[in-house]
Amino acid sequence: MSSPHTPLDLTLDGGALTARLVDFPSVSGDEQALADAVESALRAHSHLTVDRFGNNVVARTNLGRAERVLLAGHLDTVPIADNLPSRIEGDLLYGCGTSDMKSGVAVQLRLAATLTEPGHDLTFVFYDCEEIEASRNGLGHLAKAHPDWLKADFAVLMEPSGGMVEGGCQGTLRAQIRLTGTRAHSARSWLGDNAIHHAAEVLGRLAAYEPQRVVIDGLEYREGLNAVRIDGGVAGNVIPDECVVTVNFRYAPNRSTEDAEAHVREVFDGFEVTVTDHAPGALPGLSQPAAQAFLAATGGQARAKFGWTDVARFSALGVPAVNYGPGDPNLAHKRDEHCSLSAIAECEERLRAWLG
Ligand SMILES: [Zn+2]
Repeated sequence: MSSPHTPLDLTLDGGALTARLVDFPSVSGDEQALADAVESALRAHSHLTVDRFGNNVVARTNLGRAERVLLAGHLDTVPIADNLPSRIEGDLLYGCGTSDMKSGVAVQLRLAATLTEPGHDLTFVFYDCEEIEASRNGLGHLAKAHPDWLKADFAVLMEPSGGMVEGGCQGTLRAQIRLTGTRAHSARSWLGDNAIHHAAEVLGRLAAYEPQRVVIDGLEYREGLNAVRIDGGVAGNVIPDECVVTVNFRYAPNRSTEDAEAHVREVFDGFEVTVTDHAPGALPGLSQPAAQAFLAATGGQARAKFGWTDVARFSALGVPAVNYGPGDPNLAHKRDEHCSLSAIAECEERLRAWLG
């Protein structure tokens, strides 16, 4: 494994630079050495202004262009699983972080170093702690402390997407529906009122619920409202006086958080509903001019992103964002994680054609 103290050489091709980054371990919470290396490699380029906040590094061009495009990637990986140092087999580079997402970071670094006269102003964001609890997410910290560093007309999050454009992301809301009754001995059940039985009405509404399919900017988002947990019962001889059904609503990003909450309350009208957890979705923003040119440059294929990702943080800042990266999302976090070297080269080529 190369020493973490060897400087990063941004003249390496994308595959070789990915291997170099992969051999630079940076498990969440332990990104400082890699952030230092990224920062000093970028500071060597006079066309970039480089800022640092914690282990987050932001590099920007300031050419006064009409539009600004932001490319973001996280520096951390999940824990190493005996899969370092990296190794190459044919077209495949194996190792922790190859797909998620040091291949994307390598493409960002290559573009940052070489696009000295881009058509749009460019912002490159490298952040820490994406793979752990949301409160430690470096992009979240940047959005709070330095929102001006993240100003852009369009953002690309270079998470693994198999070379497809994944637009926006769905929102997610969790709520508890609490049913109450009267506790009694089950031998004299007529003296009680069974809270678990009241859940039948809640489950009936869920079973009858017809989730919507919503098309936004040509992408179809499929909503879902589902029970994900049920709690109730006191003992084998007690009529229970409480039952809680937890539901999860995954909703299309054209709904606001208020609208999503109102919808869930309407479905369970007459019941006690408590929202416990709520993260808004993100619009794909594919009708923006920069996004249209981006889609054309990347082959014009886009699909909806169903899970929640950091693109929602950009959306909250008013920046439309998509996921697009060379890694394979199905290989992320796996012991045999790998990435295609030709996919890394193709991703860089497409982005260079769009931005150059
Ligand atoms: Zn990732």
